[in-house]
Amino acid sequence: MTPSDEIAAALTQGQRFLLLTHQDPDADGVGSVLALGKSLSEAGKETTLLFQAPLRPPLCFLKGTDRAVTQLDPGQVLDAAVVLDCAEKNRLGRAADYLYKDLPLINIDHHETNDRFGTLNLIDPESSSTAELLFGVIRAADFPIGPEAAENLFAAIQGDTGSFRYGNTTARTFRTAAELVDLGAVPWDISRRIRDNHSMARLRLLGMALETICLRLQGRIAVMTLTRGMMEEAGAHEADTEEFVDYPRFVRGVELGVLIRETEQNTIKVSIRSNDWVNAARLAARFGGGGHARAAGFTYHGAAGTALALFLKEARRFLDGTRD
Ligand code: 5GP
Ligand code: MN
Repeated sequence: MTPSDEIAAALTQGQRFLLLTHQDPDADGVGSVLALGKSLSEAGKETTLLFQAPLRPPLCFLKGTDRAVTQLDPGQVLDAAVVLDCAEKNRLGRAADYLYKDLPLINIDHHETNDRFGTLNLIDPESSSTAELLFGVIRAADFPIGPEAAENLFAAIQGDTGSFRYGNTTARTFRTAAELVDLGAVPWDISRRIRDNHSMARLRLLGMALETICLRLQGRIAVMTLTRGMMEEAGAHEADTEEFVDYPRFVRGVELGVLIRETEQNTIKVSIRSNDWVNAARLAARFGGGGHARAAGFTYHGAAGTALALFLKEARRFLDGTRD
């Protein structure tokens, strides 16, 4: 049996499932949880959709988010937890506290750096998104996929492929998306509700952030910087910075686009995007982070200036080919 078939069999046999994704979830994590939750419940299963914090716009505009919870009832009986789009258990944050000893874990993910923490693991770095993989699992289990699950899977794939633009977009991605449209997903409706739906605070913050872009290492790296002061001035939230890191990557001639963002005092989130050849996941792994070949990140504890200096030193080695 393939890992996908084994997971399909476990989902068919079990009855009560906890569904989780990584903290600060993106469209792939949230869409995958919502889609699997809907499919499983239409197949007659009990599901609990647990997120660390209430979902914010625009992801709270996905259908089915009213079923999301941020804590579990004590003593809730479960057959298994399904962890979606999460490379390591500690990326679950506080939600990991609910994973009691001996609870079987089903780990479905597409991060190259996934450490296979599950009892059952389906890890495919070739997949554009967790949702694309999950679609195969739901199909293998023959669970229903109605318009709501189709929409959530479509939104998830659209998110991780940057609307079918990034290098992770394959023929299988388009075939999956086409099937999801056949099943009731409406691309224009999803795009307007989830992607082209920004607060003024986000646009104000983007204006400030664009002003900070500067070139380093002979124009091979472009760096954007966000301070907490800028977030406050714009009235923006962390979720409002989603995809800002694309802008430094867009600069002609740049190989690495970087966003340095202060999330709390002395806590710096570094997002990395590469255009052609530098493996961003390996670069992030030098700082304890991870991700994908073209998109990765890590958290640094210390000052933003130090984070940038250390990062540039290591990035230079990758760009010069003295480290891979
Ligand atoms: P972003 O820059 O959008 O936060 O993350 C880009 C990619 O890198 C995502 O796939 C995300 O899962 C991964 N990533 C970001 N930060 C971390 C981190 O601290 N640890 C790990 N393992 N992966 C990360
Ligand atoms: Mn993903």
